[in-house]
Amino acid sequence: MDKNLITVTSPLLPSLDDFTAELKKIWESKWITNNGDYHKELEKELAAYLKVPFVSLFTNGTLPLLTALQALRITGEVITTPYSFVATTHSIWWNGCKPVFVDIDPATGNMDPAKIEAAITPRTTAIMPVHVYGKPCDTKAIQDIADKYGLKVIYDAAHAFGVEVDGEGILNAGDISTLSFHATKVYNTIEGGAMVMHDEKTKKRIDYLKNFGFAGETEVVGPGINSKMDEMRSAYGILNLRLVDAAIEARHQVAIRYREALRQVEGITFFDDMPGVRHNYSYFPIFVDAEKYGMTRDELYAKMKSRGILGRRYFYPLISEFSTYRGLESAAPENLPKAHKMADSVICLPMHHGLSDEDIQRVIDCIVE
Ligand SMILES: *Cc1c(COP(=O)(O)O)cnc(C)c1O
Repeated sequence: MDKNLITVTSPLLPSLDDFTAELKKIWESKWITNNGDYHKELEKELAAYLKVPFVSLFTNGTLPLLTALQALRITGEVITTPYSFVATTHSIWWNGCKPVFVDIDPATGNMDPAKIEAAITPRTTAIMPVHVYGKPCDTKAIQDIADKYGLKVIYDAAHAFGVEVDGEGILNAGDISTLSFHATKVYNTIEGGAMVMHDEKTKKRIDYLKNFGFAGETEVVGPGINSKMDEMRSAYGILNLRLVDAAIEARHQVAIRYREALRQVEGITFFDDMPGVRHNYSYFPIFVDAEKYGMTRDELYAKMKSRGILGRRYFYPLISEFSTYRGLESAAPENLPKAHKMADSVICLPMHHGLSDEDIQRVIDCIVE
């Protein structure tokens, strides 16, 4: 790859020597998957790090979404947000349920709780919000509505690794939260993911479901799937967990530099930290007001690209705009004006632990000039 390219992200990698040493142990043990020692250890360490009672590891971040809906026996309609990665809505579709989109709150990019009640029908059984860019949803307002109508809440927390509100892990909200450990995320296991649950009974059931439903050698308790994480990636995950705090702090410093430089730029806005929140700086979205900035979002995106700076337009297009979902009543643009506005103005700037001062300055110069 061109050395002068500044990519939007870069994977957090453990030292190759450390990883090789762990691989040697795995080779010697000849136990390479199916709830091995590394798998058990990573689940334990993640639960402690994330301040949650139970974690179940998965092979990616999409299968825990699918499995959460299965485990809670969700049917009918699920209220969700169009401002996310497609996997959120796909998981609803794969469960034979109908996604119902509601608009976002432009202050956070997250599902607007005030829009949920109007979208509830007698067929609604669950709400699936997303902590977009790792910014915490209004979990209390969402839970109040869920309790009032008897709905389950499943958070797609793929962006929210390590995020805390007033010292509490955000993953404790709702009935279940899911994580992605894909290479592009703050914390990665190459491919990988997890589900967070509150009680041992659910943890046990999920562990069955991710292993074909097997509850013993000869007993199958449900139509499970295979979404187990192997020992190699579990070992890699244990090593990366030791590095993730420093990586988040490095990202924080990048965010500080970006904010300092961009605050004075007319027509460019961004999110500031929220009070009481430990952020993970997983993304740094900016929003371009074409009139004030004097250039459209796509023009700025192209200019960055021409200088080897690869931003990403997360999340454009909206999920509701993809051909698969466009036909849904709730996908009508009139129903989602705020989400459209955000999707049409966003660029995620390069954000990762390995950006040099020079890289950051190049990004800033490109936008400020
Ligand atoms: C990355 C991501 C997923 C999917 O995770 P994979 O590990 O790639 O399967 C799901 N939802 C959101 C919001 C994501 O960003």
